[in-house]
Amino acid sequence: MPGNQPAIRTNVDIRHLNSLGLPCRAAGWCRVHHWSALQQALADPRFAQQPHLILGGGSNVVLVDDFPGLVIQPDWHGIDIVAETSRTVSIQVGAAEPWDRLVRWSVDRQLHGLENLAAIPGWCGAAPMQNIGAYGVEFSDSCVAVDYLDLSTGQSHQLSAEQCQFGYRHSIFKTTAAHNWLVTGVSLQLARQAPFKLTYPGVREALDAQGISEPTPAAVAAAITRIRQRKLPDPASLGNAGSFFKNPIVSRATADALLEQHPQLPHWPAGEQVKLSAAWLIEQCGWKGRRTGPVGVHRQHALVLVHYGHGNGRQLLHLAGNIQQDVNNRFGIALQPEPKIIQSS
Ligand SMILES: Cc1cc2nc3c(=O)[nH]c(=O)nc-3n(C[C@H](O)[C@H](O)[C@H](O)COP(=O)(O)OP(=O)(O)OC[C@H]3O[C@@H](n4cnc5c(N)ncnc54)[C@H](O)[C@@H]3O)c2cc1C
Repeated sequence: MPGNQPAIRTNVDIRHLNSLGLPCRAAGWCRVHHWSALQQALADPRFAQQPHLILGGGSNVVLVDDFPGLVIQPDWHGIDIVAETSRTVSIQVGAAEPWDRLVRWSVDRQLHGLENLAAIPGWCGAAPMQNIGAYGVEFSDSCVAVDYLDLSTGQSHQLSAEQCQFGYRHSIFKTTAAHNWLVTGVSLQLARQAPFKLTYPGVREALDAQGISEPTPAAVAAAITRIRQRKLPDPASLGNAGSFFKNPIVSRATADALLEQHPQLPHWPAGEQVKLSAAWLIEQCGWKGRRTGPVGVHRQHALVLVHYGHGNGRQLLHLAGNIQQDVNNRFGIALQPEPKIIQSS
């Protein structure tokens, strides 16, 4: 059907489609919201032999080179209530809905569950990828299921939250099994009443400062948004992808050995293991606030690498590599990048 044909643009500058603002030209770009359009786009002889890249809000990717294939942005929209009980509200959300719009939609309806995840950039379809998390809450806490299209077969599937294998900044969608999957939507269950998670440093204080002793979901979301705005650079004015490295998770023995030498190293339990503060490790190596040409480490947050403009992905990766090397040499810890690195070689 001609009406289903995706409008593919060629040789597209996608600098404005990634929050780091890294320069990149894509051989092709399109937005799609049904399988037949996707199928036609994937079969287009200009791109059939090339890789494709699924892109949401571009807030967790490092575009290193020009992209030789087709960049596909999903266009599934909508936030729909699919079931309600006296205690819960179940919703289905399209992949292209901005995550923070969903959070605001939920807190406006006095629903609990997403308030701590306010102001995280990106789209809902990417939320399951790394199981987004902040202020003691993760996407997996509310997720019921994820719908995806297998691009190699055109079949739609649904995975339950358990099948998604959620972990710390991890899910099945980050594994090779999922390399050809496009998330079309997510199903969440929110609560009409639930205890708030306010133990993360600064949250209770932010509410107190507003004179709020009995918070609502909207008040918690607003407090967390304010804290984040103070701490994190806005990609609209300074390119960044949020935390560039994951907090490393190490064995109890490794943590004990490190803590003996560095008792001030912030750490948290992670099941049988221990999660260490990557920001602290980086700061100890003297990287916080350091700039090398067009890229650097944010002066307020050692985990956030920034692009000041007129740089490129290679320069950012070079900086990240130097940080990784220093942390490894000094502490014996291998830091892992959090964003997806997109490079041709
Ligand atoms: C200022 C700032 C603060 C941040 N704070 C946090 C935070 O607190 N917690 C946190 O967890 N993250 C945080 N992030 C990272 C980022 O916002 C999240 O990872 C977000 O979920 C990425 O969404 P996106 O739509 O931008 O994904 P993209 O960057 O577009 O894509 C990320 C990855 O997911 C894949 N992908 C995207 N959409 C789909 C889809 N529909 N189907 C299949 N694959 C897809 C892409 O191919 C890519 O591999 C922050 C980023 C910034 C810039």
